[in-house]
Amino acid sequence: MKKGIHPELVDCTFKCACGATFVAKSNKETCSVEICSECHPQYTGKASGAKRSTNIEKFKNKYNLESK
Ligand SMILES: [Zn+2]
Repeated sequence: MKKGIHPELVDCTFKCACGATFVAKSNKETCSVEICSECHPQYTGKASGAKRSTNIEKFKNKYNLESK
């Protein structure tokens, strides 16, 4: 890296609004975030995302091949 133009990289303690903390590299020593992998619904399993049905499922539904 070219000297003199990059900010100093230090271990930064990220503090989440949910209370979780984790350490990562940053140019600051502390940083507060609103959401992290501990509390984001996508990671905690509270939200599974959009349910996408496959073509096979559509086919089975269309011809009632599989009762649910
Ligand atoms: Zn969090």
